[in-house]
Amino acid sequence: MTLALLGIGLDGGPAIAVGKAVVLTRGNLQAEPRMLQHGDVEAEVKRFLDAVETATAQLREIRERIPPDTPADILEFIDTHLLMMEDKAISEAPVQLIRDEGCTAEWALQLRRNQLLRLFDEMEDPYLRTRRDDLDHVVDRIMTVLRGEETATPEDIDGRIVVSEDLTPADIILLHHQGAVGLITEFGSPMSHSAILARSLDLPAVVGAHGAASLLRPGELLVLDAAHGTVLVECPQETLAFFRHRIEVERAHRHTLKALKHAPAVTLDGHRITLQANIELPEDVEAALEAGAQGIGLYRTEFLYMNREALPDEEEHYHAYLEVVEGMGERPVTIRTLDLGADKQCEYQPETAACTNPALGLRAIRLCLKETAIFRTQIRAILRASAVGRVQLMLPMLTNIHEARLARALIDDEIHNLRQAGIPVDESLPVGAMIETPAAAITADHFARLFDFLSIGTNDLVQYTLAVDRSDDSVAHLYDPLHPAVLQLVHQVVEACRRHGKPVSICGEMAGDPRYLPLVLGMGLEVLSMHPASLLEARQQVRHLHWHQLQQETTRLMQSLDPDQLERQVAQLGR
Ligand code: PEP
Ligand code: MG
Repeated sequence: MTLALLGIGLDGGPAIAVGKAVVLTRGNLQAEPRMLQHGDVEAEVKRFLDAVETATAQLREIRERIPPDTPADILEFIDTHLLMMEDKAISEAPVQLIRDEGCTAEWALQLRRNQLLRLFDEMEDPYLRTRRDDLDHVVDRIMTVLRGEETATPEDIDGRIVVSEDLTPADIILLHHQGAVGLITEFGSPMSHSAILARSLDLPAVVGAHGAASLLRPGELLVLDAAHGTVLVECPQETLAFFRHRIEVERAHRHTLKALKHAPAVTLDGHRITLQANIELPEDVEAALEAGAQGIGLYRTEFLYMNREALPDEEEHYHAYLEVVEGMGERPVTIRTLDLGADKQCEYQPETAACTNPALGLRAIRLCLKETAIFRTQIRAILRASAVGRVQLMLPMLTNIHEARLARALIDDEIHNLRQAGIPVDESLPVGAMIETPAAAITADHFARLFDFLSIGTNDLVQYTLAVDRSDDSVAHLYDPLHPAVLQLVHQVVEACRRHGKPVSICGEMAGDPRYLPLVLGMGLEVLSMHPASLLEARQQVRHLHWHQLQQETTRLMQSLDPDQLERQVAQLGR
């Protein structure tokens, strides 16, 4: 019998995936507090040591099989786990506990984990405190062997659909490298950074599928339909054939769209639109160029900081930016400074996760203005890259003009330092601000005066305007880019830029969503940045729209902003 699970699908990239399930159970580290029957002690010690050996061998095998082009940070991540696994601090104490207290191997391992966690918590060094996650990964692997459960190796992931409670952006990068063809998570919402990343990696995904990790069994054949947010389990042959056919149709459609790569993005009445790409990693440049991107409108640099133990140094930043800038040639590259915090965490910045409300806490520019050494390192690398190509620097999540001035002063200071050191910099590099908080949108005039360009980040603008956590599936139904409050704010930003003669673009998911594109153009936005998977579709859509008609229709719509009519009116735009 076919089982169907419902979640929330990610529109955008490819919709369908067919593959066997691999279920990642993370953090199931609890063991029953059980004692051994007399006489079992040495057999239990052996069982424990065998499990450590098997887990170490598994990890070594993973390390050896990883393709040579895998980023160094992922290798480092695995090496750390290997070192921990081989460290006596983990393997010796449980043996002692089994012998002295008569605990089972599982219980002894859990007691040791708890002891080590307490030690980590007492450490002054925030970096060392973050070793907790690594410890859990290692303990989890040994525990899995002890329980006789299957552990997913990179080979298991290849060609499979990964099912998990939740996945961080860092997990998704790793799974993509390991060849996952689809993702299903129990939690998460389509606007979370994890979801955006999955979309930009062309990974079909269903999020918020409650119960998936316990209902789905490893090896079950799944059909994931991201367009409808459904997961079908063990379908009959005819249903499978239908979905496999849809994958082919999707592929053929994408192939046809490729013919548009060099076609100008011009409306029927001759208005030119600039279509740029949002990227997360230097390797995304290839997909951006393949889709005819006219520049990078948003380079989310925070991914440089993930899945690794140490902060990237200036050279590493510089080489990443250089790769993007050289790859894009004459086209502009907008490098956004680090936006860690909220749902994007990294190992060595525990303060950002420790906030009661991380989305309102030490995120993005707030973190950078607190940790100015980290910020300055990145700024210097961006400035150095500006000597090589058309670089623009962009600041995320500003709420007030003081932050903006402080950030600009740091940038000016680093320009001065580099000049003194005789290092070439484009001293007139455009510096822009993301408008993604209601405060910045309402006071957009101040930002337009101070910056060379503004870019509207609707993902966060919607979250903060409507007080809806973008990564929480329980409120995903309230996340509404067409809310009149959001539209009024977008309109205000466009008008402020017009008054000050400053360029404005949009780089939130709204820009690449075919449902909203006519409205976005109708609001006067001419520079749109989206993930590469949406670019060709957007180009095709632009070529069938009439700019002046959209302006008139949108002006009328903005005058009434009737919440009951909006969705229907937006769907009618340009028809
Ligand atoms: C946004 O908030 O709209 C945006 C583009 O930034 P991010 O999704 O990285 O927060
Ligand atoms: Mg944002």
